[in-house]
Amino acid sequence: MIDFHCHLDLFPSPSEAIDEIERSGIYALSVTTTPKAFPKTAMLAHRRKRIRTALGLHPQLAHERHGEVGMFVRLLGETDYVGEIGLDGGDEFAEHLAVQKDVLDRILRACSDVGGRIMSIHSRHASAEVLDALGRHPGSGVPVLHWFSGPPAHAERAVEMGAWFSVGLPMLRSRRAAALVARLPRDRVLTETDAPFASTVGSQYPTPALKEALARLAGLWGTDDATTWRCLNNNLRTLTGTVKATYAAAR
Ligand SMILES: [Zn+2]
Repeated sequence: MIDFHCHLDLFPSPSEAIDEIERSGIYALSVTTTPKAFPKTAMLAHRRKRIRTALGLHPQLAHERHGEVGMFVRLLGETDYVGEIGLDGGDEFAEHLAVQKDVLDRILRACSDVGGRIMSIHSRHASAEVLDALGRHPGSGVPVLHWFSGPPAHAERAVEMGAWFSVGLPMLRSRRAAALVARLPRDRVLTETDAPFASTVGSQYPTPALKEALARLAGLWGTDDATTWRCLNNNLRTLTGTVKATYAAAR
């Protein structure tokens, strides 16, 4: 199974979560919320073949952590993955949208400068603004829109721009969100948990939520679990392969 957006460093016991990921053979993208958290979080996944660590600066923290953009740029050479980055236009964070946009633009510019990255992107109540920012930095890499909750027209625009989507159980349980997922191209979809913020019951890594997400995706697509898994697995290979090809020259 694939968990393309989880916060391993924020579990009460990251090592237990990682052991469970290993045991279940899950491919995981471990995202971070601040550049400062990256080195330690990357160490957690040291020698774990199926876990990659992404360098992030969460939009909900941008107004407090914009001083860490320089550190972000310095660390960017250490990973092929960026996240969690993006914009959050929800009521509690809308007042900070200007600083969020500035941070995101600087991050996307830095990604372009190093030839592009695979980017896990938050776009809550700000999907149009996120797509505008990606449009300003077409060389920044491949965006993977995590828990996308924008309108269908924005999803279509994102697909046209080459974006991917990571979808989790809360999305697939919502009738409206599931209808949107059903319309996405199957070769641009991955699964995620966003654990421990979502999908989790208690403090354990939520393997059952990932299984259920896969089964629900199979239901939406009218395929069986094995076929769905093969599709997701191929997608992951394509995504990682494409970006390697794109920025191999820049390294
Ligand atoms: Zn997240």
